[in-house]
Amino acid sequence: MSLLEVKNLQVAYGGIQAVKGIDFHINQGELVTLIGANGAGKTTTLKTLVGMVKKSGGSITYDGKDTHGVPSHHFVSNGLAMVPEGRGIFSKLTVEENLLMGAYYRNDKAQILAEIDHVYTLFPRLKERYKQLAGTLSGGEQQMVAMGRAILSKPKLLLLDEPSMGLAPIIVQKIFEIIQQVAAQGVTMLLVEQNAKLALEVSQRGYVMESGRISISGPAQDLLNDDRVRNAYLGE
Ligand code: ATP
Repeated sequence: MSLLEVKNLQVAYGGIQAVKGIDFHINQGELVTLIGANGAGKTTTLKTLVGMVKKSGGSITYDGKDTHGVPSHHFVSNGLAMVPEGRGIFSKLTVEENLLMGAYYRNDKAQILAEIDHVYTLFPRLKERYKQLAGTLSGGEQQMVAMGRAILSKPKLLLLDEPSMGLAPIIVQKIFEIIQQVAAQGVTMLLVEQNAKLALEVSQRGYVMESGRISISGPAQDLLNDDRVRNAYLGE
């Protein structure tokens, strides 16, 4: 069964249709990538999934239930977590306080502490800096905090919006390693990325979005070999 099933999703900002009726699904345990040019509607799609933006039509079924009318804050407690573009960390809180914010809806304290340790194993850099104010971290470190915080919410479905944006290649590599490790632990993920090659290489399937519609979809390997994708998104 699909963990997420999106049918004929439409989103408009005022009179402008940003998402024009898209269908896609994510199966339990899958890592799926959504690629597309700037302004194609990728971020809007993610925001709609977590209720930050209202859909104007279509349906979203998450974990077997239609999400229509479900308030945004219920999504996190239902296992849907998003790491937004630009990270959305709390700059005046320390690294560790930011991580704890991810566990806000949980009360299994011992387990939370064990998982914070786990996040520190994934990102030793954060352990070294656990008392540092998050606003003073580098871009890559902030991305680590944002991902760590999302992991602490124990997501069933993790939505990652442009995790590699603005980061040095070596940090991008690290972030993608973590994405693969989190996926290997059974977390289902939807990844939006400009870095289409890396994203498709770690994914099982992909979708290409163009001007609010899905134009191409299929196994990630097929997309990597597709001439249209290669020309438009892989810079080949
Ligand atoms: P990028 O890769 O540049 O982040 P994207 O594929 O994520 O692009 P969106 O951010 O979803 O694209 O934007 C889709 C379209 O909707 C764009 O034309 C954008 O200008 C428009 N848009 C996004 N947010 C708003 C908003 N709050 N109000 C009006 N228009 C918006």
